[in-house]
Amino acid sequence: MIEVSARLREFEGAVLVPPTLGPDPVNAPMIRHWTEVMGGEDPKHADGSVAPAAMLQVWTMKSYTDKMSGVDPSPTWTDLIAILDDAGFTSVVATDSDMEFFRELRPGDHLQVSEVVEAISEEKKTGLGVGHFITTLKTYRDTDGMVVGTQRWRTLRYRPAEKAVARALRPRPALNDDNAFWFAAALEHRLVIQRCASCGVLRHPTGPMCGQCRSTDWDTVDASGRGHVYSFVVNHHPQIDAFDYPLIVAVIELEEGTRLVANMTGIEPADVTIDMAVELTWIDADSDLTLPAFRPISSQEH
Ligand code: ZN
Repeated sequence: MIEVSARLREFEGAVLVPPTLGPDPVNAPMIRHWTEVMGGEDPKHADGSVAPAAMLQVWTMKSYTDKMSGVDPSPTWTDLIAILDDAGFTSVVATDSDMEFFRELRPGDHLQVSEVVEAISEEKKTGLGVGHFITTLKTYRDTDGMVVGTQRWRTLRYRPAEKAVARALRPRPALNDDNAFWFAAALEHRLVIQRCASCGVLRHPTGPMCGQCRSTDWDTVDASGRGHVYSFVVNHHPQIDAFDYPLIVAVIELEEGTRLVANMTGIEPADVTIDMAVELTWIDADSDLTLPAFRPISSQEH
């Protein structure tokens, strides 16, 4: 890997982005909107007369249209990443962002930003795997060329350590006094529906009080397991290790009338339709977690 290290070192000091003027000068409306969204309370931010320091990046952000144009904003960076990828350093994690601010920005200031590769480390062994730390430096200047702020951004590009064979576990439900019984029943392959012991109304999601009569007395009934697809989405991203993708996430309306969110199995995402009749099956995810899922009723024949 000595050769790779030497090639990487040639990138130190390389210009990633030449000085580029931001699309708009610092302006009061953007300051006010940003401050409102972020919940800032400083009056000089709230009235738009001074930009919060944390807005620094905002003033040179490319428009969404530019970002989506397909034009490579930094061929030098692309070359650098290609060398890392070829050497097996295919994973990336951001490790730190260090910003410095040198003066307040006010409406009318117009910023430009440039970016260089400041440093690339030797090959390092980390908990994630072996890799190189890459530090880039963005420098923000006003129209007089004075530096108003900088941002050092450090990422680790690493070769992922061999993955353990065990698959990641599904995320745990957040159990509490009001829902634990439902998951406990699922562990026994029973799909239960909470029922108000006073007026008999069924409810799901589970909760402490009847929405109809406000009684806190309840019991459960076992669902028949039949229902239909009320709505669904097909999840492609972000992908989490514990799931297979594409992942069908459906709202199932049970024949008892309550609805629940569940995965669907035994069907291709493209074949799922609204109102499709479904029946209960179970996903025994691991020793602590069993969840109801639904499949088309016709699939029980095979
Ligand atoms: Zn009730």
